[in-house]
Amino acid sequence: MSEERGRRAFARDFPKAEIHLHLEGSVDLDTLVGLIRGRGRTVGPEERRELGRLYRHRDFPHFLENFRDLCALLLRPEDFALIASALSERLRRDGVRYAEVFCSPTIFARSGGVPAAEILDAVSGAARAGEKRGAPRMRFLLDGVRQFGVRALEDLVRAAADCRRYGVIGIGMGGDEKALPTGDFAAPYREARRLGLRTTVHAGEFDGPRSVWEALEVLEVERVGHGIRAAEDPELVSLLRRTGVPLECCPTSNLMTGVVRRWEDHPIRALHRAGVAVTVSSDDPALFRTSAAGEWQVLQERLGLSPEEVLAIGMRTARSAFMPEGDRTELLDAMRREAARSGIAS
Ligand SMILES: [Zn+2]
Repeated sequence: MSEERGRRAFARDFPKAEIHLHLEGSVDLDTLVGLIRGRGRTVGPEERRELGRLYRHRDFPHFLENFRDLCALLLRPEDFALIASALSERLRRDGVRYAEVFCSPTIFARSGGVPAAEILDAVSGAARAGEKRGAPRMRFLLDGVRQFGVRALEDLVRAAADCRRYGVIGIGMGGDEKALPTGDFAAPYREARRLGLRTTVHAGEFDGPRSVWEALEVLEVERVGHGIRAAEDPELVSLLRRTGVPLECCPTSNLMTGVVRRWEDHPIRALHRAGVAVTVSSDDPALFRTSAAGEWQVLQERLGLSPEEVLAIGMRTARSAFMPEGDRTELLDAMRREAARSGIAS
């Protein structure tokens, strides 16, 4: 087996967890065309080419635009069932055993579309059906959009609490990190904690270390989405090391959105070696052409981490998941068995 193929197999065969993954960003062009055709419309080559533009991003604001335009094409509960089913199959093929999936119902509610409970009902039904066919267990985090403001996030927190029966376990917030001050969102995050919801927020991705400080000190989140720009502030790195708050890193995503210009500038290796709890996930697998296994491979090939370090980050991803302890022990044991089989120290 060639070295490259060996690395790919190493990444794919390991049982894995994904903890930062957007449902809407997992819709590939074929699935998108399929769901439009499912409404009885034809999609010609010209329209298909147009839709293909949603998968090419000039920079971070342009990526957010593409994400929004893609969401605008998801209209009915059946669309969400279809994309969840495609994601479930994609994850199964990728060796993922457990996934926490962001779902952004606020985007659809604002355009007068499907309410959160109907989306989650459809999505969780598809996820359960997938699980019966050997696909991973999926749990959901409702993801707010920062620029929609505080009221929208308050609604999202209520929706998350109401959708627990569909496997919703927490909330996050993405969007334009520079749009509104983090302090504005302290109250809804407090309310989420009071309701027993798990919390994360995109910070230190598009904006600098200040955003990560605020995520930790103002929102008091349990995990930080991306958080890589924390590397610019030694005091913050030291705080992250002391507290062990995990960073949900998604290396390829950062290159694709232009947040990091070159692989050699990506700070994940430095953060890992500084003792920060970095984890690895695929973010928007279709929009960035990523997968969990692909990101494991990137850590090794592009970012210079040893197989032992990649495995340590993979295992930390499972440890950082908001999953029941019994399931976690089972997954970590399965990872250790695969490590022993592959001759990698775990
Ligand atoms: Zn994200």
